[in-house]
Amino acid sequence: MKPLSLYVHIPFCAAKCAYCDFASYPRRETDWGRYFDALLDEIRFWSGPTGFGRLSESYRVISMFIGGGTPTLVDPERIQAVIEACRGIAPFDGAVEITVEGNPGTLSPDRLAVYRRTGVNRLSLGAQSFDEGLLKSLGRIHTAGQIGEAVAMARAAGFGNINLDLMYALPGQTMDQWRAALDAAVALDVEHISAYSLIVEDGTPMAARVASGAALLPDDDGVNAMQRAAIARLAGAGYDRYEISNYARPGYACRHNLVYWNRGEYLGLGCAAHSLLGGCRFHNPESLDAYLSGKRMLEVTWLTRRDAMEETLMLSTRTVRGLDTAAWAEAFEEPFQMGREAALERLQRGGLIEIGDGFVRLTPRGMEVQNAVVLELTGDME
Ligand code: SF4
Repeated sequence: MKPLSLYVHIPFCAAKCAYCDFASYPRRETDWGRYFDALLDEIRFWSGPTGFGRLSESYRVISMFIGGGTPTLVDPERIQAVIEACRGIAPFDGAVEITVEGNPGTLSPDRLAVYRRTGVNRLSLGAQSFDEGLLKSLGRIHTAGQIGEAVAMARAAGFGNINLDLMYALPGQTMDQWRAALDAAVALDVEHISAYSLIVEDGTPMAARVASGAALLPDDDGVNAMQRAAIARLAGAGYDRYEISNYARPGYACRHNLVYWNRGEYLGLGCAAHSLLGGCRFHNPESLDAYLSGKRMLEVTWLTRRDAMEETLMLSTRTVRGLDTAAWAEAFEEPFQMGREAALERLQRGGLIEIGDGFVRLTPRGMEVQNAVVLELTGDME
């Protein structure tokens, strides 16, 4: 039985954050019923015979991630129904990791108890910052105090695997504020911390503020300095960096996200959800209305050998483990080094990559310029 991961998108939020370009809609409670009906229909579709065969005959589910949006906003019984229905797609592995993503300020003991009863064993909380002013400027709905309350509530409900998302390189954010955020996250003693640099997406209120000069972003040196501060602070507190933006206590790396970076197979359910299944990529529509009107599986693309090579290179070099050269040789029937000798040597001499133990991995400095390294290694791939 091959491993499969499931992603379920819940596109509802209490309010739209200033930097957000995800498929998320402020409230729209009136659509919740229709959305979950459509989602359950889609899950039923994948539980039967499909163009990929009956998934239950060849796959077992090793991880499931219910993300958004803010899944912790909707009635927990709806999440429960989704998880239970997904068990019909393929049998769940005994050690399946089931994550629900949510925001501080939207949890309650009852809600968390329903999740626990349904098998949810990981909670991922969007903290982003511990500074009240920065939280406000990001348009977050919660206070800094509510982050600690959410972690305490989750612990009391029995969650032993909690992630906090943090953001840096925010307009106006000082290094002291960033260090304080890292200290506050560490003090909460969670198992996993994701630290993402702000990406200003076109069309967001944040992009308009940056364009008008009302919000000033740090330069590359400032961004890299903040990333280095995170690496040092989190390493000192026992968190291993295992991907460019992700840090975990030993044994708590997110299994679901590792599937993406290792190009494992996953099925995305709900609006804007993407899939990689049977050598094919496809996705559902971004728009909630298009999803509700029944549109599914857009841009079905059978990946070529070159696509698969590029994806392997791009994704595996995000991880600290790096690119497995034996796995590459087996998948593509040629040594990774072939035709890349000069580029590998240049990058190694420049301190951007390390080669050893059958892996090519980016150094911390290489990770700061990952796109450029990948471009150099992509070369003239056929
Ligand atoms: S909570 Fe997350 S998904 Fe919702 S608007 Fe904010 S950033 Fe977007």
